[in-house]
Amino acid sequence: MQQDCIFCKIAAKQIPVQPVYEDDQIIAFPDINPTAPVHVIVIPKKHIASLMEIQPDDEELMGHLLTAAPRIARQIGLGDDGFRLVINTKENGGQTVYHMHCHILGGRFMTWPPG
Ligand code: AMP
Ligand code: ZN
Repeated sequence: MQQDCIFCKIAAKQIPVQPVYEDDQIIAFPDINPTAPVHVIVIPKKHIASLMEIQPDDEELMGHLLTAAPRIARQIGLGDDGFRLVINTKENGGQTVYHMHCHILGGRFMTWPPG
């Protein structure tokens, strides 16, 4: 755990959230500042600063996260109409929290290209 990392604190239950899904490796919870009618963050409990810091050892964890995402999306009602899965990465990707995470965004039509 990284001491000053907000998502590590969420994973360690030092900051309470209402999980929409949790297991031993990942946790999903509502975004505090939603940008869509449904906006959920999915994080690995392990601290990985960004997608660029992924190591070969993380392959199983990343596979787990990616296979959990559509199950979580279905659980929160996005199975029929679809959703967008986003991983903002470093400065130009718009990353603000440096603990790698996915956004599940849904409940409205997502435009393309993104801003
Ligand atoms: P990003 O810009 O991709 O790094 O996304 C970080 C996201 O984390 C933003 O959408 C924030 O609203 C969200 N966020 C930050 N702090 C919290 C928190 N305590 N609980 C839930 N979501 C948070
Ligand atoms: Zn962290």
